[in-house]
Amino acid sequence: MAGNAEESRTTPSTQLLRGQKALVTGSNSGIGMATALALGRAGADVVVNYVVGADEAEKVVEQIRGFGVRSYAHEADVSDEDQVVGMVDRMVREFGTIDIMVPNAGLQRDAPLTEMSLAQWQKVIDVNLTGQFLCAREAAKEFMRRGVVADVSRSAGKIVCMSSVHQIVPWAGHVNYASSKGGVGMMMQTLAQELAPHRIRVNAVAPGAIRTPINKSAWDTPEAEAELLKLIPYRRVGDPDDIANAVVAMASDLLDYVVGTTLYVDGGMTLFPGFATGG
Ligand code: NAD
Repeated sequence: MAGNAEESRTTPSTQLLRGQKALVTGSNSGIGMATALALGRAGADVVVNYVVGADEAEKVVEQIRGFGVRSYAHEADVSDEDQVVGMVDRMVREFGTIDIMVPNAGLQRDAPLTEMSLAQWQKVIDVNLTGQFLCAREAAKEFMRRGVVADVSRSAGKIVCMSSVHQIVPWAGHVNYASSKGGVGMMMQTLAQELAPHRIRVNAVAPGAIRTPINKSAWDTPEAEAELLKLIPYRRVGDPDDIANAVVAMASDLLDYVVGTTLYVDGGMTLFPGFATGG
């Protein structure tokens, strides 16, 4: 890909994360895949978590190894406590420790309120919120055990939660999803406050509309994309790399004094675009 002008404009050239160990959940698809690749390109060894799709996960692992760092795929359901504990335990055995946890796995089970089943509600809360809690807890145990290693990073560990603009933007027909992301926002801030004295940084990256399988129907026809663009002042749908680059920055020492913050990466979606011409 060297020599590709678009790539060189959007890809950090320095190895900001050299020697660090990262885990990205749900990284055989979409934003997680781009994030795992970007972390590897930035010099980190990367665990590629997936729940289904072993072949895709292995392809991501191969690409990451191409950057000269270590990587392996690990199957685990992030909403299952024992599986998350096992995933982080294995990482500590294989890589020696963990420096960067990116709880990214997420899903939607959409329905209007009166048609939403308890199963739909619970599944989204279990994966999107409880999954992030379990991943953060297990990573924090290792960060606290190990402490700061000055040659590696100024902090003892970084957790970068994958949130959404729906952390603050209500979303009719998606009460389970919006509630899960609202919960991620408060969980992130509470953990940031609790863990900062241990030199652990907890932050979130909140994507707007990004072209991935989770929201394909919102951008895969010209009509749908035109509707979506009305919500985006910057007038382009985001790419997974937009989010991946934000995670790399958030996890790096460049942002070492950033604690308990949500970085919205949304082309201005949270700027109340309806008020540009009205109000
Ligand atoms: P995606 O569907 O491509 O990726 C989601 C990943 O999570 C997949 O790999 C999936 O297999 C995995 N996953 C689902 N349940 C899991 C479980 N129980 N255990 C482990 N992995 C599991 O979608 P995406 O757009 O890349 O979404 C990634 C994250 O970004 C999600 O948290 C999503 O809420 C968030 N997000 C996406 C957008 C967007 O516009 N695409 C916007 C805001 C937030």
